[in-house]
Amino acid sequence: MNFKYVIVGAGLAGLTMAERIANVLDEKVLIIEKRNHIGGNVYDSYNDDGILIHNYGPHIFHTNSRSVYQYLSKFTEWNDFWHRVLTYVDGNLVPMPITVETINKLYNLNLDCSQVEEFLRKQAVDIPEIKTSKDLALSKVGQDIYSKIFENYTKKQWGIDPGELDTSVISRIPIRLNRDSRYFADRYQGMPKHGYTKMCENMATHKNIKIMLNTDYKEVIDDISYEKLIYTGPTDYFYNYKYGKLSYRSIEFKFETYDREEFQEAPVVNYPNDYDYTRITEFKKLTWQDHRKTTICKEFPGAEGEPYYPFPTKECKAQFNLYAEEIKKETNIIFLGRLAEYKYYNMDAVVKRALDVFELMVGRKE
Ligand SMILES: Cc1cc2nc3c(=O)[nH]c(=O)nc-3n(C[C@H](O)[C@H](O)[C@H](O)COP(=O)(O)OP(=O)(O)OC[C@H]3O[C@@H](n4cnc5c(N)ncnc54)[C@H](O)[C@@H]3O)c2cc1C
Repeated sequence: MNFKYVIVGAGLAGLTMAERIANVLDEKVLIIEKRNHIGGNVYDSYNDDGILIHNYGPHIFHTNSRSVYQYLSKFTEWNDFWHRVLTYVDGNLVPMPITVETINKLYNLNLDCSQVEEFLRKQAVDIPEIKTSKDLALSKVGQDIYSKIFENYTKKQWGIDPGELDTSVISRIPIRLNRDSRYFADRYQGMPKHGYTKMCENMATHKNIKIMLNTDYKEVIDDISYEKLIYTGPTDYFYNYKYGKLSYRSIEFKFETYDREEFQEAPVVNYPNDYDYTRITEFKKLTWQDHRKTTICKEFPGAEGEPYYPFPTKECKAQFNLYAEEIKKETNIIFLGRLAEYKYYNMDAVVKRALDVFELMVGRKE
């Protein structure tokens, strides 16, 4: 087989590149995907009861990038959706991220915005050099809120103490000194009207795009000639683990369907201190589907299983840097996306990265 462009992986990174190559360059492109579907981790499907679920955990689109929003809007319409998350602490459900209402509910107070600012200032621990997620959380909210909301959730999620994780983990959770209870504050938020899989299918409709499912690229790559390979799979696997296996955090998703219309008050409820799971998602509250039953998903983080989150420690980054040196030597292979770059990307960020990489590849950007 002969293709000018071959892409490994049909997630958002691979699909964005394929769509650009097919439509802008009018070149043929082959995507090789080891799973039996396209979409990567944003894949959604209807379960046996006819409820639309996110098979790899809840995915909420949000971005401040107008160009990414406009790009994806070519392939889907959106349902307006403002994500909300509650956290179960001491028998109460409090809003996340931390807002004025969170503090008032946690401590049975009735403070206004400036009083909450003062309250948090008094709680905050003075840490001269912030090195870890624990340092960061303590410096923002103090010991008590850290223990109630962040400490155990982070331990469950990563399997280690927040004092061993770099600041990127907890810095993703903003603290709001107002009453805005939306989980994300981005300018564009929404859910693809007909689901992520449909959006992905629309990205891949061009006749120049061929997709080979159920195929690990190593099974076929020696029989295909190409000028450029765009690789969105795991980098350690590509190099036959020559510098060892990179660490990832995985999640086991347990789906349950209930014979009632509603399960919980918000689309997502976090459980930092109780139970073994970190959170429960109720899909109908994300997708607005009308159905007499409801499906939820409990998330059990663990070390084994599908690689989801690159491990945010210095040691892991140093190990990946050994692979990064190998990548620099490649002349006709582009490593792109969350697995190949060993980097957590949100959906908008990975699409932006792919659009930029395409522009670089065709020489329209330096
Ligand atoms: C639990 C969870 C929740 C998330 N929630 C959100 C959210 O709410 N909002 C948000 O913006 N982002 C969210 N994300 C991030 C989002 O999933 C990623 O941004 C996106 O999936 C990255 O796309 P990608 O193409 O880089 O990777 P992937 O989607 O992982 O695609 C890579 C593809 O490569 C394939 N592949 C791997 N190895 C091989 C091989 N050897 N041969 C052939 N194919 C191979 C894989 O099967 C996969 O389909 C979440 C991620 C997770 C894990």
